[in-house]
Amino acid sequence: MSVLDWIVFGEERIRITMELDQLQDHIRRIYGSKDNTRGKDGTFIWLVAEVGELGEAVRLGRKGGLEEEIGDCLAWLATLANVVGVRLEDAIQKYVDVCESCGQCPCACEGKP
Ligand SMILES: [Zn+2]
Repeated sequence: MSVLDWIVFGEERIRITMELDQLQDHIRRIYGSKDNTRGKDGTFIWLVAEVGELGEAVRLGRKGGLEEEIGDCLAWLATLANVVGVRLEDAIQKYVDVCESCGQCPCACEGKP
């Protein structure tokens, strides 16, 4: 499943499409050793801290800040998935088709925010 564009910084900026599995493997290659040493509790705390920063960016409404904080949250979510042994591709499966409650796309559930 291809869900995002990923910008790689090297000598030049390259935009590529990365699959969720590739993203998770990429995060594991870069940070896996440190992540395993930190463990699940410490990694969860980092994820929550990043979600807090995202909340602040949402409140302030700065687009650049939003993009950066959403990227940070996604990276820390991938990190936590690595540490606890969950494959993101498997975890997202219930959201890849129609709404699991009403069976429609877009969702037509009554009272759902
Ligand atoms: Zn629905």
